[in-house]
Amino acid sequence: MTDFSKEDFHSLLSKIQTFLRAEVYPLEQDFLRRPFRDLVPELNAKREQVKVLGLWTPHLPEEYGGLGLKLSEFAHVSEELGRTPIGHYLFNCQAPDIGNTEILMAHGTAEQRQVYLEPLVRGDVRSCFSMTEPEHPGSNPTWMSTSATKDGSDYVINGHKWFTSSAEGASFAIVMAITNPEASSPYKRASQIIVPTMTPGFRIVRNINVMGDEGSDYASHAEVRYENCRVPQSNLLGREGEGFTIAQERLGPGRIHHCMRWIGICERAFDLMCDYAAHRELSPGVFLGSRQNVQEWIAESRAGISAARLLVLQTARKIDEQGAAVVREDISLIKFFVAGIMQKVLDRAIQVHGARGLTDATLLSYWYRHERAARIYDGPDEVHKTVVARSVLRKYGVDV
Ligand SMILES: Cc1cc2nc3c(=O)[nH]c(=O)nc-3n(C[C@H](O)[C@H](O)[C@H](O)COP(=O)(O)OP(=O)(O)OC[C@H]3O[C@@H](n4cnc5c(N)ncnc54)[C@H](O)[C@@H]3O)c2cc1C
Repeated sequence: MTDFSKEDFHSLLSKIQTFLRAEVYPLEQDFLRRPFRDLVPELNAKREQVKVLGLWTPHLPEEYGGLGLKLSEFAHVSEELGRTPIGHYLFNCQAPDIGNTEILMAHGTAEQRQVYLEPLVRGDVRSCFSMTEPEHPGSNPTWMSTSATKDGSDYVINGHKWFTSSAEGASFAIVMAITNPEASSPYKRASQIIVPTMTPGFRIVRNINVMGDEGSDYASHAEVRYENCRVPQSNLLGREGEGFTIAQERLGPGRIHHCMRWIGICERAFDLMCDYAAHRELSPGVFLGSRQNVQEWIAESRAGISAARLLVLQTARKIDEQGAAVVREDISLIKFFVAGIMQKVLDRAIQVHGARGLTDATLLSYWYRHERAARIYDGPDEVHKTVVARSVLRKYGVDV
């Protein structure tokens, strides 16, 4: 891990901010108006610039070409990148690739790292993570139907998934499938298996229309069928029956990444809200910011965002020091808390902008539509609140 001095880290953040303001914010209006795939040539040019600046894959260890940041340091970078919807993609640290990179680094064999991880790190390919099924509750990930049965030296996978984000154009999927149906613990029945998307039997049924937007490529969520999809057993990630454990490992740091990206969104929305309140005249010389309700929204938002940032950074530091397994309560707490703050801040910012807030003149309506999902994916609010409350109650001697 690189030992950044405070000054070095500060100058790294300002280098990122300068690049985003000069090179990325001007692309946003195009991003809002054109399908993702049409923008790929421009985005690739920007990705090359990020490489030249030495900022590529900032979350990765130096041996993989990254900056060797601790999670609590990457959290600050993630906030900066989150201020624009294309920030993480341009620095090659976007979900779901970031999570897949982490589990391939931790559990991939030498061959898997060479074939799947290295091209992902270079940004030559994209990937997806295929766990949720339409027929089963995603909030109970131990209950699924997709199976992987051994046949000779292969696994034959059959199943139905949806909300496999970024599947269109991905070169491989990491799929959760039942390999050990007889295991006594439901947590030991599923495995993670790498499936190249060119494999016969991997079929994207459609991109799901989410909040009025079908999306394309990286910015899409697919329904996928696995129909006698045959891959070598050497594509197993980790050991058989460890799928759930690996998924949990993936989600710990993953929630820090999401939360800090959301704080970046909050800060940008807050900035837009305050700027509009300061300059929009209700009548000559009377500005929107003079209204008490707007002042309350500004004060509540400021307090909420700052509190959220402190909570996330505190959790990131604990993970750096003690590992993700021991901070389960904190991770669940920030997941629902920050998603809720973001939803409130976006809603207030839109209200301040009036009808303009619903147009594509700003990023607000895009984020309002796309980030409503934050209270559902990676575990709905209700599940995380239960985790927190149970953990608290255990300290009072009850296991509910
Ligand atoms: C934009 C987006 C992207 C996604 N990307 C991916 C991806 O890349 N790969 C992937 O595999 N999945 C992905 N998902 C799926 C996501 O992980 C699931 O939607 C999530 O886990 C919830 O599962 P579910 O939708 O089946 O809801 P369900 O589990 O059916 O829950 C429905 C509702 O019931 C309530 N509920 C559920 N459990 C409890 C409980 N224990 N106590 C109280 N209330 C409860 C909650 O209010 C919840 O919202 C994505 C989802 C979205 C929206």
